[in-house]
Amino acid sequence: MPENKIYAVGLGPGSKDLMAPKALEILRSCNVIAGYKYYLEQFPDLFAGKTIISSGMTGEIQRCREALEAARSGKRVAVISSGDAGIYGMAGLLMELAEKDFPEIEVETVPGITAASAVGALLGAPLMNDFATISLSDLMTPEKVIIKRLEGVAEADLVCVLYNPASKKRRTLIRTAVDIYRRAVGEETVAGIVTDACRPDQQVMTCTLKDFPFDEIGMKTLVVLGNSRTVLRNGKMYTLRGYDDKYGI
Ligand code: SAH
Repeated sequence: MPENKIYAVGLGPGSKDLMAPKALEILRSCNVIAGYKYYLEQFPDLFAGKTIISSGMTGEIQRCREALEAARSGKRVAVISSGDAGIYGMAGLLMELAEKDFPEIEVETVPGITAASAVGALLGAPLMNDFATISLSDLMTPEKVIIKRLEGVAEADLVCVLYNPASKKRRTLIRTAVDIYRRAVGEETVAGIVTDACRPDQQVMTCTLKDFPFDEIGMKTLVVLGNSRTVLRNGKMYTLRGYDDKYGI
């Protein structure tokens, strides 16, 4: 009996010890794995001997369709995303495609540690209070909408996590984002910049918005813009939640 299910699995940020035990168990049990090849290459032992559906970054729709076809034919299939599968990952796309063309297949999302959690931990604790995440990729969301959201979160003094901050060609929105924060929150606001979190080439940096290192930002970078309560003390970037004001510590 086919299971009529497909799994959208988040791999976590990159190291195996940060992959959720349930994700690991599901991936081990699947005989077909679909995903972007860079993510597959991160865990060669785990995927050895399995049928792989892979293609470059732009082949997402095709790859998910092929994965759904495989599930329909009775295979046990996982579609992988980095981090959490439901945060800028493949889970939603699978659900859209299933609803349209594969109504008999249920999509189950298996969560993972998203880049914001992993990067937050490496920097200290910048997400201690309210925060927002915004993707700067204008592939799916118009630039105008992204800027409006940035202005809204800066105005609300939220800590802001920027996913997809820049690529080789797409380098202007990160400047816009930092400018918006400089104006709304101030030049001395602390920012954290982490590339390849929990992977062999990991790089962790902190700065103020005045000295923001735009050239260091790439596709594998996550940027955390602090708010008016974010500090850098003893090498840790963290956001004051107000304990000292309220209780005196
Ligand atoms: N589903 C993923 C996000 C995919 S969007 C998650 O939950 O983390 C891809 C973006 O995520 C990248 O451009 C980068 O900004 C961020 N990212 C994902 N993994 C990362 C890592 N290990 N280190 C730094 N940034 C990462």
